[in-house]
Amino acid sequence: MTLAKAYAAFAANTPLGPYEVERRAVGPQDVQIEIAYCGICHSDLHQVRDEWKGAKFPMVPGHEIVGRVTAVGAEVKRFQVGDLAGVGCLVDSCRTCPSCQRNLEQFCQKGAAFTYNSTEMDRKTLTYGGYSSSVVVTEAFVLKVSPKLDLAATAPLLCAGITTYSPLRHWNTKKGDKVGVVGLGGLGHMAVKLAAAMGAEVTMLSTSKAKEEDARKLGAHHFGLTSDPVTFKKLAGQFDLIIDTISAPHDYNKYLGLLRIEGAMVLLGVPPEPTPVAAGSLIFGRKTLSGSLIGGIEETQEMLDFCAEHNIVSEIELIPVQQVNEAYERMLKNDVRYRFVLDMKTL
Ligand code: NAP
Ligand code: ZN
Ligand code: ZN
Repeated sequence: MTLAKAYAAFAANTPLGPYEVERRAVGPQDVQIEIAYCGICHSDLHQVRDEWKGAKFPMVPGHEIVGRVTAVGAEVKRFQVGDLAGVGCLVDSCRTCPSCQRNLEQFCQKGAAFTYNSTEMDRKTLTYGGYSSSVVVTEAFVLKVSPKLDLAATAPLLCAGITTYSPLRHWNTKKGDKVGVVGLGGLGHMAVKLAAAMGAEVTMLSTSKAKEEDARKLGAHHFGLTSDPVTFKKLAGQFDLIIDTISAPHDYNKYLGLLRIEGAMVLLGVPPEPTPVAAGSLIFGRKTLSGSLIGGIEETQEMLDFCAEHNIVSEIELIPVQQVNEAYERMLKNDVRYRFVLDMKTL
């Protein structure tokens, strides 16, 4: 066992502050990682503020982890000391249920072990995330990170990257498809980059006029201002796929009107409150409303390899860990360009 420095939330309504967590001794199948950078996901904020209920305090958030391997267990095959490594939202699963057999560990039917605010598969040992100096994770859930890419800007791929890559792949996004991305934050900007790299014609749908130029630089071909009702008339019936990343409650029906016949809209954002959906929004045009949760380990590796091949990383603002509380406030004001990443040297 080792003590790791960390930043933790102690209650839903107080700022995060310094803390220390116990990391287990490196077992035969474990990889110990010195964390270099950790991205800040809006899910961190939802959980720290207990918006989804069931928060376990003290909570060390962070599931966009990259760093270097500092120790490996005797049975570890894919990693050596000194290698780059990444950890996303999952640290273990049962590995035997039908979901795990299909490489969909995020849907493990026994309940996966998430990186923080969760427990290991023993259901007793709490998990602590990446706002920390080190972590110990079983090899099967550790990802290979390419040295070709900027390491700090790679961290957000471990959640924002896979969460947007997975639905684009599932709906078979290809050259010429019309994809709408709703909300230009951490997830949204990765969705734009990835959909454009897959050859799609991408439209950014945003409430922030000031982000239009950035959207185009990220690879969007068109921009629609969603505070303007004319946008919904102009773009009606256009899209094959809409990726919705909005973190707050909003009217799904309006966006369903933008789908072509048999188009699909995928919810990625998790607003704390439910939203009514009218049957008519779906039946006129045989449309699909779906959701998607991160991605399995094999697909996460595929995404990292795709990003290395296409030179795709996140646009980041690197900050010292002491600024995490301000970063949360800026994220709430839609003022993130486009992912905050914590520099763990500052811990
Ligand atoms: P983020 O960086 O804060 O971006 C969210 C964006 O949504 C904002 O930048 C803003 O974009 C838009 N938005 C925010 N409030 C809005 C409102 N009231 N009305 C309309 N648009 C609004 O958040 P993120 O890290 O990308 O995460 C987005 C959501 O996805 C969160 O709910 C998070 O928990 C969830 N998430 C889900 C998964 C999954 O597996 N499904 C994984 C990670 C995160 P504009 O300024 O462009 O309008
Ligand atoms: Zn996340
Ligand atoms: Zn399972």
